[in-house]
Amino acid sequence: MTYDRLVCANCAAPVSEGRCPVCRANRERLQQEYGFAGWNPMALIALLVVLIAAVALLAHQTV
Ligand SMILES: [Zn+2]
Repeated sequence: MTYDRLVCANCAAPVSEGRCPVCRANRERLQQEYGFAGWNPMALIALLVVLIAAVALLAHQTV
């Protein structure tokens, strides 16, 4: 689900266009939520890659 499909209850325009203060407030709040949700998986993937590399290095050294 993406916020740009949401329609404002106040002005009946897409929230992503930010035509009224309600739109802009919702857009800002949703962008923060989606921004956080979009940032987290990337950080987890990066962390996973680092862990895999560390384990691979350790396994290589012990063998
Ligand atoms: Zn609006």
